[in-house]
Amino acid sequence: MSQDCIFCKIIDGEIPSAKVYEDEDVYAFLDISQVTKGHTLVIPKQHTQDIYHTDSDVAEKLFARVPKIANALKETYEPIGLNVLNNNEEPAGQSVFHLHIHLIPRYGKQDGFG
Ligand code: 5GP
Ligand code: ZN
Repeated sequence: MSQDCIFCKIIDGEIPSAKVYEDEDVYAFLDISQVTKGHTLVIPKQHTQDIYHTDSDVAEKLFARVPKIANALKETYEPIGLNVLNNNEEPAGQSVFHLHIHLIPRYGKQDGFG
């Protein structure tokens, strides 16, 4: 737990979130600012700032959960596509400095990717 990290506070339940998936290593929840319906963030429970600071063991567990969570989103939201992305450092769009993977379901023309 890193003290000023909002994602650590979300894992801890100190900040509420809409849980999508949880196990001993990983937590997934809906992004507060949904790019599309079902936009989800997948994070390791162990605080790590970005991909550069992440042990391969933590990365392995994190990325290993993505197919399962992607399939759950596919079933729930029935998108026609999915973006999986990860921003590292501010110039690349990172705004929260706890490693996270965005899962962004796509629905076609209505979200600009028709
Ligand atoms: P980044 O820009 O770092 O790749 O993504 C950070 C994401 O975290 C943003 O999409 C932002 O909407 C989301 N976010 C920031 N604060 C909160 C929060 O308190 N709760 C939730 N659910 N998402 C958040
Ligand atoms: Zn953190």
